[in-house]
Amino acid sequence: MVTPVRRQYLKIKHSYPDALVLFRMGDFYETFDDDAHLAARELEIALTSRRLGKSLKVPMAGIPAVALESYLARLIKRGHKVAICEQLSDPAASRGLVERDVVRVVTPGTVVETGLLEQKANNYLAAVVVDDAAAGLAYVDITTGEFAATQLAVARLLPELERIGPAEVLIAAADTPPAWLGAGNGHGYGSGSSSGSGEDAGESVDRSGYSLTRLNPATFDWDIARDALLSHYDIRSLEAFGCADLPLATRAAGAIVDYLGQTYKAAKPRLAALGVYSTAAYMTLDAQTRRNLELFAAGRWESRQFSLLAALDDTRTAMGGRLLRRWLGQPLLETGELEQRLDAVEHYFADAFRRSDARSLLGNIADLERILGRVQAGTAMPRDLTALKTGLAAAESLAATLTGADDGAAAEAVAWLARQLGPVPAAAALIEEAIAAEPTGLVGEGKVIREGFSPELDELKAAGRDARGFIAGLESRERQRTGIRNLRVGYNQIFGYYIEISKANLRQAPPDYIRRQTLTNGERFIVPELKEYESLVLNSQERIQELERSLFRQVCSQLGGYAEAIGRLAAGIAALDVFAALAEVAVRYDYVRPKLNGGDAISIKDGRHPVVERTLGAGAYVPNDLQVANGAARVIVLTGPNMAGKSTYIRQAAIIVLMAQIGSFVPAAAAEIGLVDRIFTRVGLQDDLTTGQSTFMVEMVETAAILNQATPRSLVVLDEIGRGTSTYDGLSIARAVIEHLHNDPRLGCKSLFATHYHELTELAQTLPGVRNYSVAVAEEEGRVVFLHRIVSGGADRSYGVHVAQLAGLPRAVVSRAWEALAELEQGAASSRAGGNGRRSGQEAATAQMPLFQPEEPLRDAVLALDIPNLTPLEAINKLYELQEQARNGGKG
Ligand code: ADP
Repeated sequence: MVTPVRRQYLKIKHSYPDALVLFRMGDFYETFDDDAHLAARELEIALTSRRLGKSLKVPMAGIPAVALESYLARLIKRGHKVAICEQLSDPAASRGLVERDVVRVVTPGTVVETGLLEQKANNYLAAVVVDDAAAGLAYVDITTGEFAATQLAVARLLPELERIGPAEVLIAAADTPPAWLGAGNGHGYGSGSSSGSGEDAGESVDRSGYSLTRLNPATFDWDIARDALLSHYDIRSLEAFGCADLPLATRAAGAIVDYLGQTYKAAKPRLAALGVYSTAAYMTLDAQTRRNLELFAAGRWESRQFSLLAALDDTRTAMGGRLLRRWLGQPLLETGELEQRLDAVEHYFADAFRRSDARSLLGNIADLERILGRVQAGTAMPRDLTALKTGLAAAESLAATLTGADDGAAAEAVAWLARQLGPVPAAAALIEEAIAAEPTGLVGEGKVIREGFSPELDELKAAGRDARGFIAGLESRERQRTGIRNLRVGYNQIFGYYIEISKANLRQAPPDYIRRQTLTNGERFIVPELKEYESLVLNSQERIQELERSLFRQVCSQLGGYAEAIGRLAAGIAALDVFAALAEVAVRYDYVRPKLNGGDAISIKDGRHPVVERTLGAGAYVPNDLQVANGAARVIVLTGPNMAGKSTYIRQAAIIVLMAQIGSFVPAAAAEIGLVDRIFTRVGLQDDLTTGQSTFMVEMVETAAILNQATPRSLVVLDEIGRGTSTYDGLSIARAVIEHLHNDPRLGCKSLFATHYHELTELAQTLPGVRNYSVAVAEEEGRVVFLHRIVSGGADRSYGVHVAQLAGLPRAVVSRAWEALAELEQGAASSRAGGNGRRSGQEAATAQMPLFQPEEPLRDAVLALDIPNLTPLEAINKLYELQEQARNGGKG
């Protein structure tokens, strides 16, 4: 025999097999069976058991309802889905079984709890559907209502998904394994099946990955998805969203709406109009490039602190922070909007007072986007509304910082901001009128709605006050009437109000006192009058609670009517915040407005790396110029010893271009940027001698991808490519890659190539678009001094032993290295001179001898390689062949 409650639980659990069900029982959420084991393990709470029926005892673990949020956070972070099952009928009022049902399924992509969200980052839920070579992608942030969809080539899917960085991705159950998700790229993706069985569910999400949720494939059917969208927005056609003829985008967006219906049982979150976009409007930044340029996280520990985002993010609001992050992930490709952004930055750059006014006002503006989301979802708290009011007021003053745009150019951008910041006086007035200046945190105690807003509420409160006043006066009245000086009126939860008389005075108790409770040293009484007033108090309390809640709901729903205006305002504030922040950073670190054009030249005067510069401290960074253009110097081969500053220099170029293309000023004395369509960066395996062929393979596959995807408008930044293999192989590959970038008519794009193989400087002699540069090094008393200055011409030696000495290698080892080097150099010289000198094999490559003799068949073989069309396997085989050839003295 199972009890009714057990039957109820099992029925609910049956509907949510893959979620951990939190079953509300009074002040606790309980978990049972396997869920209880899982909860006990993940939350470190006690596992108990509960007797349900005669012979049945089930495992149980519970958490206090008030602590839900923190426990929820832990479960969601570990990748679990949680179904929250509430009591829907009042336990006190209902006879028999309390009604219960799941009101919400919480998943990583659908959390709204402030404690579970990062302020300055969006929390996205994405959906992906793939059909042959095309894909549909949609994503939503339900805390702000942002909802977007696109249709794109499968090849572009992964970078776009990585740009968005969703917390959860929805796919059709049949799509297994989802190769297009890049699961093979070393990312850990959750199985999402964090089910009640709980096996290994904790490992289902890793740091970089997102949790995968597989849905019934029918959810992604075009007509079902379309209907879901139409009914969600209550519209007849998708024309308005511009996705009527984008079936894949529609399918992905529809799946999201459908999923929200499943997870938000009670109140579906409101979404802004679906924004259909094209990835073609933005620069694609693949994951390697984002990582190499350290846009959002830096270093081995992926810390945010030394990222480009951190260097630029001086925003004052959470909204601005999220917008800047979005812009950094989506650089623009056209000058038009960029000039507008730059104008707006300049507006605040040019005037320190204006800037500081704006920034101090911004400091008072709460997260209006998320507040609006809560207002619309019906989960707003009283202080959300006062924060909204403060924000609305601050926005009006903020608009004042837009005036005084002196030059005509800025007018357009600033006018746009002014339109966005149009005040919403009705909303501000409503809050002012309805909500107390300093409301309590929770609604219901009569301290949230402002006096005068609701006569009914005011009457109730007055009645309550009167009744309380009567009770308060009762004590002195009864003391007088009875003559008992220590008579006391008190209150407790069980008996309500009472009159307490101590033992010694009991005899003086008047006959109309009704005894209620005997204590060790006294007795408690009531009188009918007291109970009358008590019920007045309690009634009024109850009715105040009810009325205040309903008034608050009304106010929120009225505010919802201004959602569009408030949303527009919030977007304006976010943009203004970003402009003012970029201006602030530009002033503080001496950046300049870049000149943008549609040409193919990039010219930077005294450029700096914005992050490295700050870690070094004032004045320590050595600025450098850069000049590249497709027609002339398009490939730069940068040589120089380790630690000279090669990587920093080529990354700095990419970062300056990227900053210009989000509308930021740049760390340079002057910069002219012909906009690029894509930045590619690859870093050869650095200093990691333990890497085997397979990681080298990754490097090669990535390089192949560049050669296949770059266009003449791209900027390619390659750092020590080919390093992950033996010297000859690496050199050959590096050379072939440069030649291809330089010669292929489909490419011919601007490329910066840092290498410690100075043999590569020979290329400038044969390829007209190649220029050699090196990092200047001074030698002082046998010690090398890095000048960090980029100079024309290749490096003539590697200074490897110098660097080793600097690194603190024991003196004996260093001097032995000098000897060995001298020997090698001598050997190499004689082999060059005599042709039949000692061939020292691979070690000789560390000496500076020309690798490729003009008539060597090895060179021809390498040149003949059609790299982009080689399969990885063929490439490896070819390499072995070439190596073999090299071992045989370069003969075939
Ligand atoms: P490489 O790629 O040649 O091995 P890096 O670019 O990694 O060298 O630079 C090594 C270090 O030199 C950096 O960490 C930085 O501290 C310093 N450095 C690089 N460029 C500059 C510069 N322009 N001015 C001052 N210091 C620099």
